[in-house]
Amino acid sequence: MGRSIYFFGAGQADGDAQQKDLLGGKGAGLAEMTRLGIPVPPGFTVTTEVCNAYYASGKALPAGVEDEIKAAIGRLEALRGAAFGSPEAPLLVSVRSGARASMPGMMDTILNLGLNDEIARGLARRTGSERFALDAYRRFILAYADIVLGVPRDRFEEALGRARRQAAAKLGVDATRLNSAELERKVPDSQLDPESLAALIQRQKDIVLGATGRPFPDEPYAQLWGAIGAVFDSWKNHRAQVYRKMHDIPEAWGTACTVQVMVFGNLGDDSGTGVAFTRDPSTGERRFYGEWLPNAQGEDVVAGVRTPHPLSITGTGTGTGTGTGTGTGAGAGVDDESSLEARMPAAYAALVEVQGKLEQHFRDVQDLEFTIQQKELFLLQCRTAKRTGRAAVRIAVEMAKEGLISQREAILRVDPGSIDQLLHPSIDPSAPKSLLARGLPASPGAATGQVVFSADEAERRAGQGRAVILVRSETSPEDIHGMKAARGILTARGGMTSHAAVVARGMGKSCVAGCSAISVSQGRMAVTIYDDHGRSTGTITVKDGDLITLDGGTGTVYLGAVPTIPAALSGEFEELMVWADAVRRLRVRSNADTPHDARTARNFGAEGIGLCRTEHMFFDEERIQAVREMILADGELGRRRALEKLLPFQRSDFVGVFREMAGLPVTIRLLDPPLHEFLPQDEAQLQQLSRATGVSAKDLQRKSEELAEYNPMLGHRGCRLAITSPEIYEMQARAILEAACEVAAAGIEVEPEIMIPLSMTRRELALTRALVEGVAEKVFAEKGRRVDVRFGTMIELPRAALRAGELAEEAEFFSFGTNDLTQTSLGISRDDAGRFLGAYVEAGIFAKDPFQSLDVPGVGELVEIGRDRGRATRPGLKLGVCGEHGGDPSSIAFFERAGLDYVSCSPFRVPIARLAAAQAALAAEAARGPRATD
Ligand code: PEP
Ligand code: MG
Repeated sequence: MGRSIYFFGAGQADGDAQQKDLLGGKGAGLAEMTRLGIPVPPGFTVTTEVCNAYYASGKALPAGVEDEIKAAIGRLEALRGAAFGSPEAPLLVSVRSGARASMPGMMDTILNLGLNDEIARGLARRTGSERFALDAYRRFILAYADIVLGVPRDRFEEALGRARRQAAAKLGVDATRLNSAELERKVPDSQLDPESLAALIQRQKDIVLGATGRPFPDEPYAQLWGAIGAVFDSWKNHRAQVYRKMHDIPEAWGTACTVQVMVFGNLGDDSGTGVAFTRDPSTGERRFYGEWLPNAQGEDVVAGVRTPHPLSITGTGTGTGTGTGTGTGAGAGVDDESSLEARMPAAYAALVEVQGKLEQHFRDVQDLEFTIQQKELFLLQCRTAKRTGRAAVRIAVEMAKEGLISQREAILRVDPGSIDQLLHPSIDPSAPKSLLARGLPASPGAATGQVVFSADEAERRAGQGRAVILVRSETSPEDIHGMKAARGILTARGGMTSHAAVVARGMGKSCVAGCSAISVSQGRMAVTIYDDHGRSTGTITVKDGDLITLDGGTGTVYLGAVPTIPAALSGEFEELMVWADAVRRLRVRSNADTPHDARTARNFGAEGIGLCRTEHMFFDEERIQAVREMILADGELGRRRALEKLLPFQRSDFVGVFREMAGLPVTIRLLDPPLHEFLPQDEAQLQQLSRATGVSAKDLQRKSEELAEYNPMLGHRGCRLAITSPEIYEMQARAILEAACEVAAAGIEVEPEIMIPLSMTRRELALTRALVEGVAEKVFAEKGRRVDVRFGTMIELPRAALRAGELAEEAEFFSFGTNDLTQTSLGISRDDAGRFLGAYVEAGIFAKDPFQSLDVPGVGELVEIGRDRGRATRPGLKLGVCGEHGGDPSSIAFFERAGLDYVSCSPFRVPIARLAAAQAALAAEAARGPRATD
């Protein structure tokens, strides 16, 4: 282990921005800001290595670390002319968590540490404000009791309520009929007088004594050791674990712990605290953006209990000086008078300067936390800002155009998964809708669902397949599992940087926050309805299970389900895609089964169809009957008769697909699934089939039972079907080739590719190839024209990968069907895996579900073997992948390294795959070393 403590202060720092692994994002940012001469309260960071050593030794700080911490505190004392534990010149600190990757609100932080009765009196003398000192002290006891001593916050609710009522009486407010939320609004923390606070502190201490059997620790160093241990412990709390799993953050990283001199945003009306973004994290617009609260501590802003004010006066929030801002302010209905710019112009100007400097320095959007203590600005945090997918695209493209980053960096800046958000549906503006309320547009996208009022209930109902909207007064990190399960989130309180807003944005979920017209209690939501003039006209009650729709882009809430329309992609998005397309090597095709899907795919930039699953065309109402007749026919003749009925349907589908994909390759796979999937599912369907075929229901039933298989996935499916019933593939080949000739005759370029599923031996392929070629010759003769058609196979079985050398004798292309290849090489059923694979991921056996993200060491090696052996036989062999992995960014990175020609994925993932392929190409290039021309 290297050094344990990294100090920062007075313009110098041991660490820097590069050391996130060791110092966490927060520690690294504070060190870097200190180096840049930005005003940062001094402090030091205990490294993530110490955290890991703490866990390794059964939760003890390694030897010597306590002494190093004491020495660092000594340096802080010298810098500040104050002393830790001294009533005369008290030095208070914050103890804050901070991991390598930001995990907002997931871990713990303790403010105002270093207080006891005597020191609190000293602090009151030093600051001239007894109220302030006692308020800091009671907040500290509350946080410390909850986080370090494990006495839950709600145990203190009653004591706080009593203090508020006591203060209310003095203020002449009749509190007898107010509930706790109303009471808090009438008597906010700032109205608690010293006498009520002193009584509250005593009660809090009594509660701690009662709950733990020990008095609240008075000794500042004892407090400090407890707090550092608790910060490290919070790395493994439940919500942090859930968050890590969602964001693929390894457990082994650990958190750092930063101990920093306190500055106070609650020292009066010339103090305050806030959060800012150098650009709008929701839209990406280039305007300085954020929220603040006067006379408050940082936790007040994020807790969302008070709705914060905007930083800038409306319309002028263009901190970066481009004049592009058309800012509308952050909070709905907040007047400009309350903005920081209006209230403290000098501090605001200093903040604007700092944010510009930081964005230029880090070359990315920064998320800042600041405090103003008696007009003096301090930065408490800067980190790369989380942003919506839409914002990420806009910011990357605009920064490249501003010359701040290169186009290549812009491509690498956007998480391919996040552009899913650009593809989200939005509310149909022409649809009739019933407006319920308005809040803040916290995270874009439209979402409809049943109202639920608790995270547990959201999780439970989502588990039953229901769409739910989680409605809360405000969310807290404990709600994370419910937020994950919900389609959207609605909160009554909190601003654009509240927990609900930040977390929902990160998840790409629709969220309306700070919707003050609603109040939530006891499983109901009361909504005050306002007329156009803002006058209240009545109340509506929304109950558990009622349907509502959120528009997170405008902050609107509607009653009932409102129709949505598909997403419209932004100009910046198109631009980024052009840049991405210019650097990627992998082609991107789509899996599409119908002309409609083909058009969608092409609109998203698909360069062909990599998999057309012909069986999906069979399920249509008109066709399924003929399919069933074919399956249940006794003998070849009966099957042929039924197939004849199917031929025109298949042909017209293929005509449609070829037309949509004019000039691009279309890979059509012949029938693959076990036939029993098409059998009648119930008595009514059986009777209907009996009437149509004239075969008795009993006979049909018997035939169905005969077709049942113990293990259909490994049964009579794929090209096995053609070995026993060649007429099925004959009909399909005819439909494809007739369609190709028809479209070609219309002067449209066609590139059909016929693909055989699940082949395992060369002989199977040779037989099916002869069959397809025989049909082709017949069709070409009948039509008097030839079209180029390629013949190939899927590689979905380990044997096929191993014998790829032979298969390539018959096949002109391979498409790796990694869904089945994963199933067959792992020996895990893709249909049943969901029940137990979660446990495998949890136990670290697989980093991710191998059906979502390719098992590179295992299945990936089979792909490489198939590639090498196939290309050894046929050097130009075209190689693609059409399993779900074709749309998964980390799998795409592997397919790039493996040198495949294309990936194929569902239409909505095509843009994601294009971007991921470009990133993979850039990563591969970086791994090869710089190009001569760079
Ligand atoms: C595959 O197995 O990867 C594949 C694409 O085929 P299907 O999912 O239709 O079995
Ligand atoms: Mg398959």
